[in-house]
Amino acid sequence: NPPVEPAVAPSLGRIRKIAVLGAGVMGAQIAAHCVNAGFPVLLYDLPAQGADRSAVARKAVTGLARLNPAPLALPALARHIEPLNYDEHLDRLHECDLVIEAIAERLDWKEQLYRLILPALGPRATLASNTSGLSLGALSASLPEDIQPRFCGVHFFNPPRYMPLVELIPGPRTAPELLDRLETFLVAGLGKRVVRAKDTPNFIGNRIGVFGIMAAMVEADRHGLTYDMVDELTGKRLGRAKSGTFRTADVVGLDTLAHVMRTMQDGLPDDPFHPAFATPPVLAELLRNGALGQKAGAGFYRKA
Ligand code: NAD
Repeated sequence: NPPVEPAVAPSLGRIRKIAVLGAGVMGAQIAAHCVNAGFPVLLYDLPAQGADRSAVARKAVTGLARLNPAPLALPALARHIEPLNYDEHLDRLHECDLVIEAIAERLDWKEQLYRLILPALGPRATLASNTSGLSLGALSASLPEDIQPRFCGVHFFNPPRYMPLVELIPGPRTAPELLDRLETFLVAGLGKRVVRAKDTPNFIGNRIGVFGIMAAMVEADRHGLTYDMVDELTGKRLGRAKSGTFRTADVVGLDTLAHVMRTMQDGLPDDPFHPAFATPPVLAELLRNGALGQKAGAGFYRKA
């Protein structure tokens, strides 16, 4: 394909208010981190069944106290995160200068959500995806031309409060000024360290990290090692107290991890390591049984 010229940025204002779309493992914690850094947040999720239509996002805010004790006490935290749903509160998106999409790692679902929210996006707002490794080019192609310069990837690592790294990934038409402005915000506003990555499957961190996780899972199975043993070896003994292979998988979410693996399977067909990108059988079996990791109360460990 011929190279696409990056577009010129529309006039960009200061980031004062943030919307996070998706109140799951990452969305809720990104929202908490932003509030702790002094930015009010609108936290959106799908409407729950029944009367309380913002229940999903509200539950996520309550869950933050357990998941990620923050400097702000929960009532204070909750005051600055508004749990909303798309069908009743979409127009409020207009208030936000930065919209961080953090819904499930499926290209078609993200595209569908963008179609829903675009009419409510402010004329100067930035739209950024927290995708773990989907193609920014593909996501960008689903957006109207005037939005593409204001769209990019902003990939936080889990848990976002403690992990300093954020990958900033341009789409083919992202305005360079937008990346500069977002980098300044992430560093000065949220205290992060930014690495600019290219739009390749799973970018940098997950291309390396997920490959390591897959290899460890397959080898553990082959050699009959227990999850504890592998976690001791790949966690504490490597100086990573909380991040052994299987515990990390549970914290990430096994469905999300499987989606991230699929990005490598589908996106790198000619890679010499491609045969090693197959979903490890032990992971596939847990998924078949509905064990999605910590968020579901069952994964490699019962109570991760
Ligand atoms: P999650 O499964 O915990 O939450 C996903 C959220 O998306 C849920 O709240 C769900 O209600 C919502 N959702 C699902 N389908 C939807 C749809 N069709 N429309 C609107 N909302 C929908 O997922 P997560 O782990 O928070 O991951 C979210 C994003 O962040 C993904 O792109 C993932 O790859 C990325 N990410 C995850 C991690 C991690 O460790 N889990 C780390 C970095 C980036």
